[in-house]
Amino acid sequence: MKMRIDIITLFPEMCEAVMSESIIGRARKKGSIEVVCHQLRDFALDKHKKVDDTTYGGGMGMLMKAEPIALCIESICTQLRKKPHCIFMSPKGNTLTQARLRELSEYDNITILCGHYEGVDQRVLDEFIDEEISIGDYVLTGGELPALVLADSLSRLVPGVLSDDLCFSDESHFDGLLEYPQYTKPAVWRGIEIPEVLISGHHANIEKWRREKSLEETYYKRPDMLENAVLTEADRKFIETLSKP
Ligand code: SAM
Repeated sequence: MKMRIDIITLFPEMCEAVMSESIIGRARKKGSIEVVCHQLRDFALDKHKKVDDTTYGGGMGMLMKAEPIALCIESICTQLRKKPHCIFMSPKGNTLTQARLRELSEYDNITILCGHYEGVDQRVLDEFIDEEISIGDYVLTGGELPALVLADSLSRLVPGVLSDDLCFSDESHFDGLLEYPQYTKPAVWRGIEIPEVLISGHHANIEKWRREKSLEETYYKRPDMLENAVLTEADRKFIETLSKP
């Protein structure tokens, strides 16, 4: 079953524009993935389409009201005939990782709520949201960019979205390591040659070189990742030969 991602936002055109381009845009046209962007204002109850209000207890800024969000999620539930996995993009959430993306890619339906202003009335989050996800320890003006980061990185794990599933299984973070360096034509650029092994045609040697370069990249750029990576005895021996960062 293909995945459907619903995005609840005050800026559906912004989300639609990003999700219509390039690989994700083509995958949507092909039907490998469905993305539906909902204008939250369509669920506002008053004639001014008001979706925010002041916070109880005082304080600066506005908060998104509970009822329009509840109505929007309920309308998605009616369309799907079930409750999707609901995610609120929030700087308070768990930081997004490739490992969590792999787990999330098992869902058929994911609904992403984008906050704005000072955030969202806590009651609607408690009522409908299954998890909060952050894209990093910093604060953006709205949840649209975080939602697009999640939707993009999730979509490319859905079978059929990338031309070859190897595209992501061979990449940084997939197996807990960073990717090895890559080169394209010409073989000599401004006098700089590519590593000879890559044109040797010797697949085992190329694989060995890539594994070692991957270990090297991770060791120097993200040594913290090596603690959780699955390493062979040969990997460990190779790492011991590297000079200290
Ligand atoms: N008052 C909130 C707080 O201190 O946690 C921040 C609100 S922020 C200005 C507005 C919205 O942007 C949030 O509700 C959230 O949806 C989104 N947002 C901001 N930074 C984010 C991050 N690092 N990850 C995910 N979403 C984020």
